[in-house]
Amino acid sequence: MKTLLAVMLLLLSPALSPARAAAPEKLPVIASFSILGDFVREIGGEKVSVGLLVGPNGDAHVFQPTPADAQALKKAKLIVINGLGLEGWMTRLIASSGAKAPVVVATKGVTPREGEEDGHKGVDPHAWQSIANARIYVANIREGLTAVDPADADYFKTRADKFLARLDETERAVRAGIAEIPEANRRIVTTHDAFGYFGAAYGFEFIAPVGLSSDAEPSARDIAKLIGQIKAEHVPAVFLENISDPRLMQRISQESGARIGGSLFSDALSTGEGPAPTYIDMMTHNIDELKKALIPHS
Ligand SMILES: [Zn+2]
Repeated sequence: MKTLLAVMLLLLSPALSPARAAAPEKLPVIASFSILGDFVREIGGEKVSVGLLVGPNGDAHVFQPTPADAQALKKAKLIVINGLGLEGWMTRLIASSGAKAPVVVATKGVTPREGEEDGHKGVDPHAWQSIANARIYVANIREGLTAVDPADADYFKTRADKFLARLDETERAVRAGIAEIPEANRRIVTTHDAFGYFGAAYGFEFIAPVGLSSDAEPSARDIAKLIGQIKAEHVPAVFLENISDPRLMQRISQESGARIGGSLFSDALSTGEGPAPTYIDMMTHNIDELKKALIPHS
């Protein structure tokens, strides 16, 4: 059996190797999570091969790197992270992997928001939820790619400019979508506090029982307080999140009477089969879900 397998591999490998050798070498880039990976792909196109540490629907707040992640990081020519404290595990992973590649902090130049974390003030890492910030991410990533591959500077610039134009279009659609929602309905409950930048940018209130990081457990008192707030302020809907356990929101919906409005993508994209495999798909999906749940149908 083993011999047969070895023969089969021998037969297969000559067919694979020439194709591989003929393809131009791609720049190996590791992005910490899926949203950054999409930005790198948009700008880097066929010049890059993008690896992710935290994959689709994964939670970057509570990620536990494996030895394979350390290996991938060591082979990378560029590492892209969010910063603002999202990837608390990254410094140690870079040190232990022996990775030497330059690190792009995609939020460099973003004005950070403050939020609540376990009763303390903390920096909100979810800056990508505002498209104005996404433009800053694009500029930082383009700069990082250009620094390690200056020969392709024009290629990266052309692709980044095209992507920025599509971001402008997406932002217009988000603003138009919010404008269609009656002002009294422009607030919902989500599991964790991931939409502060979105809310500030587009005029929308998000209330969350869990703080800035998804790993905190809300107390019974917090939940009771939230249910009281939903009832008193007539918050119309609670939403699920792709990275969070739905049970907390289901319970809050039952106890408060607010219905489940839909599901939002907060900290990760979907797989290719899902509704949000790219950043633009994610923003479009989220605004569509909000509109569906919050615009009254007569
Ligand atoms: Zn988060």
